[in-house]
Amino acid sequence: MQNIVPLKCPKCNNTHLFYKYGKDKDGYQKYLCRKCYHQFAPDKPSPKKTSKYPRCPVCGKSSFLHHDYEYYSNYRCSDKKCNHSFFVPKVTAIPSTSISKLSGKTNFKRIRYPVHIILSALSMFFLGKNSFRNIALILKTVFNVKVSHTTISNWCKKFAPLFHNISLELIPMLNLNSDEWHVDETVVKIAGKKYYLWFVIDSETRFILGFHLSPYRDSRQAFALLNSVRNLGTPSAIVTDRYSAYKVPVKSLFGDSVKHIRVESFKDDITNNLIESFHHQFKAWYNTKQGFASFESANNLIYMFVFFYNFVRPHSSLNGLTPAQVAGLCLSPKEKKKYLLVA
Ligand SMILES: [Zn+2]
Ligand SMILES: [Zn+2]
Repeated sequence: MQNIVPLKCPKCNNTHLFYKYGKDKDGYQKYLCRKCYHQFAPDKPSPKKTSKYPRCPVCGKSSFLHHDYEYYSNYRCSDKKCNHSFFVPKVTAIPSTSISKLSGKTNFKRIRYPVHIILSALSMFFLGKNSFRNIALILKTVFNVKVSHTTISNWCKKFAPLFHNISLELIPMLNLNSDEWHVDETVVKIAGKKYYLWFVIDSETRFILGFHLSPYRDSRQAFALLNSVRNLGTPSAIVTDRYSAYKVPVKSLFGDSVKHIRVESFKDDITNNLIESFHHQFKAWYNTKQGFASFESANNLIYMFVFFYNFVRPHSSLNGLTPAQVAGLCLSPKEKKKYLLVA
């Protein structure tokens, strides 16, 4: 592009004595000032002077960094009258949930049994309270298929990555924008040690949006949990107990437009029954196993339980629908088979 504005040296303001002086690395014509020997490329666009700090979401004015933390930055509006304080999450610094640690198979390759036998066993385990021995007995009597109880135990764990991939395909079909997302924790034992199972449940559909299994109960875990669900939809409010670890993660990940309701205890909350119903079913299933043997198996088994809870189990309180169906999942019989929701 030719410069149509008359040349002027930015250093000495000389307007008529120049040499053309080749091109710069971006291909712009360079000039050499014959008065002061300054080199310059007048057509080169000057680097945009955008502030690296975000604009105030209330008044749109610039902000300054008030305090920088591990998982978020606290900015303040530079307008003295507004003085709004807001948090911006550092999403790449936030650790991922235990779901990122699922291990096992993503297909049925080299499995000697037909898929419908495996799905039957999984349903008996995750929808009912059957022991692995019990399931082996039923498969033998009903299908005349001989499977050892240890094989069934392995099936219940090792396909978690396969079902996770299915869930990643199905979740975009759901509408999870809702009044309230409830966050809660419950305690499970792994090899005799106490672990926290954190989860987020959508109040309207009862869909479990995410979970996180950790030996710790602190704000780092709440960051991981809430960061894993923030792109699944927009609730009007996030409901948690009064536990302070939730405060900063909710504010920085969901902003000021999502209300944070902190209830004294879920016992006081009218919508508590939805948390209770998940707890109840989870505990009924969990209590049959006297804890988990290892973190890896606990994480895989809980993932599978949640998948069956979301996509397979009909809920009497949802008129016999699954949470996924209430959230709008509508699949043909053929698709249901493809996504392993029916055998
Ligand atoms: Zn000059
Ligand atoms: Zn402001």
